Amino acid sequence: MPLVSMRQLLDEASKRGYGVGAFNVNNMEQIQAIMEAARETQSPVIVQASRGARSYSQDKFLYHLMLAATELYPEIPTVLHLDHGNSVETCKSAIELGFTSVMMDGSLMPDGKTPSSFEYNVQATREVVEYAHARGVTVEGEIGVLGGIEDGHGAGGTGLEHVTDPDQAVEFVEKTGLDALAIAIGTSHGAYKFTKKPDGSVLKMDRLMEIHKRLPNVHLVMHGSSSVPKDLQDIINKYGGSLKPTWGVPVEEIQLGIKNGVRKINVDTDNRLAITGAIRKVLFETPEKFDPRDYMKPAREAMKKVVAERMTQFGQAGHAGDYAPISLKEMTKFYAESAVVAK
Ligand SMILES: [Zn+2]
Repeated sequence: MPLVSMRQLLDEASKRGYGVGAFNVNNMEQIQAIMEAARETQSPVIVQASRGARSYSQDKFLYHLMLAATELYPEIPTVLHLDHGNSVETCKSAIELGFTSVMMDGSLMPDGKTPSSFEYNVQATREVVEYAHARGVTVEGEIGVLGGIEDGHGAGGTGLEHVTDPDQAVEFVEKTGLDALAIAIGTSHGAYKFTKKPDGSVLKMDRLMEIHKRLPNVHLVMHGSSSVPKDLQDIINKYGGSLKPTWGVPVEEIQLGIKNGVRKINVDTDNRLAITGAIRKVLFETPEKFDPRDYMKPAREAMKKVVAERMTQFGQAGHAGDYAPISLKEMTKFYAESAVVAK
């Protein structure tokens, strides 16, 4: 099946009350790891690429790898999503290349670190929505600012400075007509999210529930939602790495989010840790090896294991065969009709 619309995946997830992991990729092995995990667990899946990933891979390579994925795994509904588009132009170029979903992160200025005004965010997101929906492509927007600065997005800090305001979220959705909304509830990008196990003082799950109550039909997105498990940190440190102790978002908190409107969960760091740990182990234990496949294979396997575990925990496992994919062309009709209803 061709790459599918993220809106359809999230609508289906909403009907049945599960979440869908969105996993970041830069290369072939990561795509293979995700697709193998999806097949093993029979999961629909979102594969996403940031601006950094697009430039690392000369995005055409990435796009064609994803086409290979849809050929080799025809039973898996697969979305190709742009993570943190920093400008209208970046989003348009992703759509032209063939992405079936884009994030316009207008919470920050195009430099990817300076918090923007609400008006700028509305205007930029609205422009992307008009362009994308006319092509059947899904749009995710963001209101509030995430912490952490890894990969050039997020405004730095602890993530608590710009927690999403529910009134603003409602106004933002009404004015933009987007499909999915990323909210800031205290999570950060990167490995160093929390210096202790997070509780209500740092992870604002109550805020998430309030926003869901006000916007029950909007698909919510949790960014920076790796769990940063200790066993993955330990493998890296055991084989010569030096990660400082750190905590991520506990899976139980994500599951609570899924009960309260969260449909897309972004996970990147956990997979990076799994890959790096596996590579370090091989190189440390067998320093005579030099064929990249000797460490890329275990790395791919380690990532697959983490992804499959998250797919099961988020509830998307077993749902790959629930529905037939809607083409982007049909999605344009859906958007045209819902716009008429809205007027
Ligand atoms: Zn993010």
